[in-house]
Order: sequence, then structure tokens, then C-alpha cells
Amino acid sequence: MKQATKYIHAGAHPDPSTGAIMTPIYQTSTYVQEAPGVNKGFEYARSQNPTRFALEEALAIIENGKYGLAFSSGVAATDAVIKLLEPGDEVIAASDMYGGTYRLFTKVFEKFGIKFIYVDTTNVANIKAAVTANTKLIWLETPTNPLMNITDVAAAAAVAKDAKALLCVDNTFASPYLQNPLDMGADVVMHSVTKYLGGHSDVIQGALVMNDTALRDKLYFIQKSCGAVPGPMDCFLVLRGIKTLHVRMQRHCENGAAIAKWLRNHPKVSKVYWPGFEDHPNHAIAKRQMKDYGGMISFELKDDSVENAKRVLSSTKIFSLAESLGGVESLINHPASMTHASIPREERIKNGLTDSLIRLSVGIEDAEDLIADLQQAIG
Ligand SMILES: *Cc1c(COP(=O)(O)O)cnc(C)c1O
Repeated sequence: MKQATKYIHAGAHPDPSTGAIMTPIYQTSTYVQEAPGVNKGFEYARSQNPTRFALEEALAIIENGKYGLAFSSGVAATDAVIKLLEPGDEVIAASDMYGGTYRLFTKVFEKFGIKFIYVDTTNVANIKAAVTANTKLIWLETPTNPLMNITDVAAAAAVAKDAKALLCVDNTFASPYLQNPLDMGADVVMHSVTKYLGGHSDVIQGALVMNDTALRDKLYFIQKSCGAVPGPMDCFLVLRGIKTLHVRMQRHCENGAAIAKWLRNHPKVSKVYWPGFEDHPNHAIAKRQMKDYGGMISFELKDDSVENAKRVLSSTKIFSLAESLGGVESLINHPASMTHASIPREERIKNGLTDSLIRLSVGIEDAEDLIADLQQAIG
């Protein structure tokens, strides 16, 4: 089945009691049992909820996987993957990844004796060089935030296979519309569903998708034992969001391309980070493993000062100044003072996050209006 058809029908079964075409919101904590031990497969809603199950089925289908598991947030999904590990195990992770993932690894899990080694994963040889007998997990993110670095997932999967380690890919930025890491050899795909899958900036949620049954059973055990499950209303909203993922992503990509090209020709802009440019350092891999280049763009100003960036950020009228991404509305963000403010300036600049770096989550409004808004803001 083709993508568009899958997105609309994934996980959708008429409700058995009424025929309702949309999965109802089963807002319940428990289920009445006919006799002790006799039930309809539903005992307690932390373990089983029909709305969540419909969503988990949909998540598996759209990521070309066998099993989906939904969590109360993206970081809760990541947390579940790390809980597969034991003290002494090692994780090789991308040096340039979502700050909340880095915080979870360093501030929560290191003290339990799990070791995290950070490398530049855009060169897969760096991953290979970091493998030891204790390597149990390789954690990738591609494209990355906010510099849009791309890692070759298939090459990383080959390294993981040799190392007998799991490969987990945070596929939040691309969404299942642009790339499907399980098809490239990854073992687990993680999503912050909060972003493109929800798509309307109204839900916090996370997901994992995988093919291996034993791995699914372990992660389901962690999901129910630790209890970071999403509520049924949020599952309903995401089921609704998924139905338009392909249409939204097409427009995100079109608008993203138009804005990236326009920014690159702007006299006050010094650099634009977008994997669709042929001179982007990882363009060839992006072209091979992604269907299109998405709606996330970062750029730097020629006048590279925090003040100048703040002037632009406070002048946009359609782009809203906010963290997060992937919603239908356009957002603008300043990593130096917002998402990456906790990193010391020197280290931040060393990692390429300059004072004037601005990140855009390009929405699905009219591209001409978005460009006019940036024009008046940049000046
Ligand atoms: C937002 C985000 C997360 C964390 O997800 P939450 O839903 O906010 O918990 C993880 N990875 C990436 C790439 C993100 O953008």
C-alpha cells in the first residue's frame, strides 16, 4: 500500500460496539471482568487501552515496523530504551543531538553506571572506532538540531550489527514521511510524537517502533512497569494528526525549500543550514536516505551578534517565538538564548552554534506570506 493510503487507514477499524468509523476515546482506568480472571483482554488501562492500541498499530504501520509503543513524551520513549541496559553497558551517541536526550543520558542514567560516549556520527568511522566489547546501543539522530547534520543510517546499522549492539534512530525531525530507519537496518525508531506526528502543537507524546518480537516484549514490559503511558485523548489527537501527515509534510518541504533558497540570497544572511543544498556537507546521504528535505532550517546573520538575532526574533509577526517544531504554524527560535542556553558560550560556538544562529520550523502557511514576514524582520 502507498504512503498516503496507509496514513489515512493505519490503525482504523470501525468500533465493534457501534461501528463508529473513528476510534473512540476510551477514557477509562479499568475494565469490568465477568468473573475473576475472565476478561476481554483488557484489565487495567496502564497496560491496555483500545485508543492507545489503535495508535500503536498506526505508528507501526507508518514506520514500516511490526510493533509500536506509545509513551507520555518523547523523552519517556528514550528513557524506556535506555532501561533495556545494565550497569557497565556502553552507549555510543551523537555529539550533536537533542538537548533533552543529552540531559537524560548525562544527568539521569550516568549515575546508574551506564557509560555514554559521544562522537560525530556524520563520519560513521567515528562510531566504529568507539565500539568496545561493552557497546550495547548506538543512538542516532538525523537530521540534527539545529545544524541539520545527516548521518548515514544504513552504514551505522552495519557497524551496530558487527558490534551486536542495537541501533536506535531518533526520527523526529524527518518524520516517517521522509525516512524509515527500520528499512535501513535500525532496530528501534524513536519519535517525539509532539512534533510532526501530532502536527498541531497540542500534544506531548513519544513513540517507539520495532520489528523484533523479543525486543517489543521487553519494551512493553518497561512501558507498563514504569508507566509513562499517554492518555487516550492524546492518542486520539495523534491518530487524527497521522491522517494528514503526508499532506502536511509535502507543504512543509515545499515551503522549507522556498525559504531556504530565499534566505541564501539575502544580503544580511551569511549561512543557511538545509540538507537540500547541493553543497551541504551531507547532501548526498540526505538525497539517498530521505524522500525530501523537510521544513527545518537554521541560518546565521552577517551581523553575528545576540542583539541582532534578538531584533529579528522579536520582529516576526507570523513566525511565533517558541521552542518545539513540526506544527502547522511556523515557529522561530534562538538556540543561543533558548534551547541551548545552558551550554557555555565558548563550547556552544565551538559546536557551530553562533550568537546569531536562528532556527525556523517552517509551517504550512502560504510561502509568500512567510517570506514577506522574514523580509520585514531581517530588514
Ligand atoms: C522534542 C524532541 C525530543 C523530546 O520529545 P518530547 O516529546 O519533548 O519529550 C526528542 N528528540 C527530538 C529530536 C526532539 O525534537
